[in-house]
Amino acid sequence: MIMPEPSQSPIGLYVHVPFCVSKCAYCDFASYAGREADVAGYVEAVVREITRRSEETRHPRADTIFLGGGTPSLLSELQVARILEALFEAFAIEEEAEITCECNPGTLSKRLAETMRKAGVNRLSLGAQARQERLLRLLGRIHDWEQVVDSVEIARRAGFENINLDLMFGLPTQTAADLRETVEAAMELRPTHVSCYGLIVEEGTPMHRDITAGKLALPEEEVEREMYETARQTLAEHGLHQYEISNFAREGRQCRHNIGCWTRVPYLGFGCAAHSFFGECRTMNPTTLDAYLAGEEPKTEPISKEEARFESLMLGLRMTRGVKDEDFTRMHGMSIRKAFGEKLDQPIRDGLLEWHEGALRLTRLGMDLQNSVLVDLM
Ligand code: SF4
Repeated sequence: MIMPEPSQSPIGLYVHVPFCVSKCAYCDFASYAGREADVAGYVEAVVREITRRSEETRHPRADTIFLGGGTPSLLSELQVARILEALFEAFAIEEEAEITCECNPGTLSKRLAETMRKAGVNRLSLGAQARQERLLRLLGRIHDWEQVVDSVEIARRAGFENINLDLMFGLPTQTAADLRETVEAAMELRPTHVSCYGLIVEEGTPMHRDITAGKLALPEEEVEREMYETARQTLAEHGLHQYEISNFAREGRQCRHNIGCWTRVPYLGFGCAAHSFFGECRTMNPTTLDAYLAGEEPKTEPISKEEARFESLMLGLRMTRGVKDEDFTRMHGMSIRKAFGEKLDQPIRDGLLEWHEGALRLTRLGMDLQNSVLVDLM
């Protein structure tokens, strides 16, 4: 039986599954297509890492688990169950833990959904992205909207009530009307949570090459802002309220795992490219699949007190509720005002930051211009 440190608050656990059916045009995540032969060996390597790290960290309690990717739903039922069993054996998982698995439409079978539910997964996150076929093709996604509808149906039948849909905006050729249609179609599926991400075109991706070559164009900044506003309004009309820059949820359905990351709750990450934050240190696993499978050592570095204070503000300001001065003071032994001094004045004068019920938070305008606010605070 696992005996956690009694004084320790629960942490989060993350497992990265870096396999995909094919590589999307905009993707620069640690994900690989055509590496099916490595899946079994990878699962065993992750299980060994889970066991080793749980011993090193003295089996802390955990109240969230997140299987992310890549495409975790490409694993077999046995492989998903093996990873979850290893986590349950190695850590003291709270009874009410939130256990999420990311899935891509077109890869979720009835059997896999049922196995996940039985193994304790209670939240599914589906990469739906867009309603329009032309946008899905442009993104290089493998699915169509019908498969999104089917996946939600499969998940519900398997007993999942807590379902997130990932959507995207700011895509080449996408209009605000397209996005409204996507959000409306998503709402027909009654998700409890929606993540709506603006496209970031990373260098080295096929989409970046097409944009640089003038074959594709991103929407103007103003159009992108209009899309974001459209998403916010349409989701609010359907009872999904914004609680973070890109995240919207029904009452009580906010993603606890991600909130933990934004409030600096310690977490352990397993698998290639996974990060951990534990004992005021950051650990980075090898970024490539080959390096991870070859047993390359992770890199660990301490986080200075100053970095920790900046991180608290940078991450906390992502959330609409902002950062409570009381929590900040408890964590860092000084108030936000003491830590950031005059640096707060300009963004407050510019209407980007505000104090509200004892918390410092971004205003509506500040949410749009978050990066420039953070540069001011650095
Ligand atoms: S499904 Fe996700 S992780 Fe896989 S290639 Fe596409 S964007 Fe990347």
